[in-house]
Amino acid sequence: MSPLFLPQPDPYPSGPDGQGWSRLSLNAHMDVRNQCGLLPIRFASLFESRTGRQRWGGYERCRMGRASCSTCPVQEAARRHEPIEWPAGSPLCLGRVRPWPLTPGALLADPAQGRSYVELLTWQNMSTGVSVNWPDLRDDFRVQFSWTFVDAEGEAFWVVRSDPDAQDVPVHTSRLGGVTEHAVHGRAGGPPVATLRCHGVCAHDDWRLRYLAADIADAAGNAPSVETAELPERLPGIRHTEFSHEGQRTVLRHEDRRYHPASTLEVTWHQPVTRAGLTALVAHAVRLVIW
Ligand SMILES: [Zn+2]
Ligand SMILES: [Zn+2]
Repeated sequence: MSPLFLPQPDPYPSGPDGQGWSRLSLNAHMDVRNQCGLLPIRFASLFESRTGRQRWGGYERCRMGRASCSTCPVQEAARRHEPIEWPAGSPLCLGRVRPWPLTPGALLADPAQGRSYVELLTWQNMSTGVSVNWPDLRDDFRVQFSWTFVDAEGEAFWVVRSDPDAQDVPVHTSRLGGVTEHAVHGRAGGPPVATLRCHGVCAHDDWRLRYLAADIADAAGNAPSVETAELPERLPGIRHTEFSHEGQRTVLRHEDRRYHPASTLEVTWHQPVTRAGLTALVAHAVRLVIW
């Protein structure tokens, strides 16, 4: 069980001022700021909270107290794993860390000071109108996250959602010499909508292949897009994969990374290429680096 109740740490035995006794007696008159390990307020504590590493600092205050933890509504909500609001039609979003607007009239000690929420944008950095708070992101286990990166707009990270029904999509794998071929079919079966060829070792495990196949199958239901989506050569924050696209073929080159040697994923589309199809591949590259 991960630490959920995070008691306020004891003050330094002898504080930074070296006057330990005065700090201790001062502290006795101050309120106690215990925190709740299920209520992260920033990316670092989102990571801690998802992985059972919570330490005091970086969380909302506990309002119930240690004795009520097991019946606390916060814990009940966390157990429900409620899905967050999610922009329709894409498995991938760019999460941008946005500051809370300051409280009008609050000059000092504004509770909004230094606080943030996450705006979910399309992976091409376009607005979707959807924003979420850190605890709701934490509770939805269908979404997973990359590490953060910083660009001209500030701190951001990738949020990828995985289809719980992914195993329903048929994938047929065969090996031909040094190439492994995965034929991805639509949800209703029929001829393959795309063929994935892994040159060298497969850079994905089975569940990642399943999620990719599900996203590709869903994309196949989309109307063909006339505008050939622009694929960037690399995604911000995702250094290990290089994309290229020409005609009916998209190639993902994965550099050598921990546990996986370098490899190439070549995708041949058997239907008109759609923006959603390319998004499926971008989401796949993100899934290779989620924590
Ligand atoms: Zn609590
Ligand atoms: Zn493969």
